[in-house]
Amino acid sequence: MARQTAKKSNPLAKRNASKALKPATLAVHGGALRSSFGETSEAIFLTQGYTYPDSESAEARFANREPGFVYSRFANPTVAMFEERMRLIEGAGAARAAATGMAAVTASLLSHLKAGDHVVAATALFGSCRYVVEELLPKYGIGSTLVEGTDLSAWKKAVKKGKTKALFLESPTNPTLAVLDIEAIAEIAHKAGAKLIVDNVFATPIWQKPLSLGADIVVYSATKHIDGQGRCLGGVILSDEQFVADHLATFLRQTGPALSPFNAWVLLKGLETLAIRVERQTATAARLADIIGNHPKVARVFYPGRADHPQAELAKRQMGGGSSLVTFEVKGGKAAAYRLANALDVVLISNNLGDSKSLITHPSTTTHQRLSEEARLAQGITQGMLRFSIGLEDPDDLAEDVTRALDAA
Ligand SMILES: *Cc1c(COP(=O)(O)O)cnc(C)c1O
Repeated sequence: MARQTAKKSNPLAKRNASKALKPATLAVHGGALRSSFGETSEAIFLTQGYTYPDSESAEARFANREPGFVYSRFANPTVAMFEERMRLIEGAGAARAAATGMAAVTASLLSHLKAGDHVVAATALFGSCRYVVEELLPKYGIGSTLVEGTDLSAWKKAVKKGKTKALFLESPTNPTLAVLDIEAIAEIAHKAGAKLIVDNVFATPIWQKPLSLGADIVVYSATKHIDGQGRCLGGVILSDEQFVADHLATFLRQTGPALSPFNAWVLLKGLETLAIRVERQTATAARLADIIGNHPKVARVFYPGRADHPQAELAKRQMGGGSSLVTFEVKGGKAAAYRLANALDVVLISNNLGDSKSLITHPSTTTHQRLSEEARLAQGITQGMLRFSIGLEDPDDLAEDVTRALDAA
């Protein structure tokens, strides 16, 4: 069913009633707002502002007494459709879109934290998230502590009762695909009176539902699997209605990281094929993980769907499926990793992920270049490591490409 605020601000036709439907169905129909033309596909409302029939209704709309849109920095029909579709898929109370994944992460922290507060985060974070936690927050008097995310006692030790207001993690992690215990970490957060924020990009909304495991806020870079075709940037924050009403709505409205209606439309159409893409990518990834894991040139493979994954048991309990990514370490360090990547024909060298095109990256010289070698090794990121994002090509072609490149390494 429509979230209250969207319903209020929606002068268009009624939404699909959709509470009991499964995610794949919600991803196709959820949140659709049809105009009087009855269009099948969602419309793109490329408009900055809105008009009012008279001054009285302008006043009423600004006072929130009358439904309707006011300005596209605050809300826009196409963006509202994307938010509502994400909300339904995630099973959240509320959703708000942002221009990028990083805008979403930053808003999920800065919207409610203030000087004197403290944040605990896992060390294994997306590079820009680490900058926000480690460098940006402390500039504004918000302290932060980084911990090894798989070590529950480290989380407990780092939490300062009354001061720690947020715990932040991603799972599976980038690039080693370690799986963190969301339920247990949520319990640690709540005991301390803090919120747990989960960056769910690597898991996707198809394989992991952090809110049902006790997380308070979920963030996505919609740039990844949600678009899934390498076209535009986007982000989204999901939580209960209270958090949006108390903190997030005002922060986004006044600081302005609004998602473009055009990008919202691309992401809406991306959602329609999300489940089928992620399922196919994961099935292919599982097959490739075995091929890679059995190759004599490979020292180690990291794949949450395999029995040799360090948190295999937890992955099985917490996630509905493995991952569309496979990380592995070739014998022979950087030179061998480069030989392998350079020998690939179908798979492209790129630092993005979740794309329909298969992509491979060498984390220590790209996404994690900023860290010292010591900091990289502390996270298990070696010079022979490659992160492989599996796309939608024919699995046989990918298997052939990867096997040939492994032989060349
Ligand atoms: C890509 C990514 C982000 C940042 O998203 P952008 O859309 O590039 O701003 C944040 N977290 C994770 C885990 C990511 O993979």
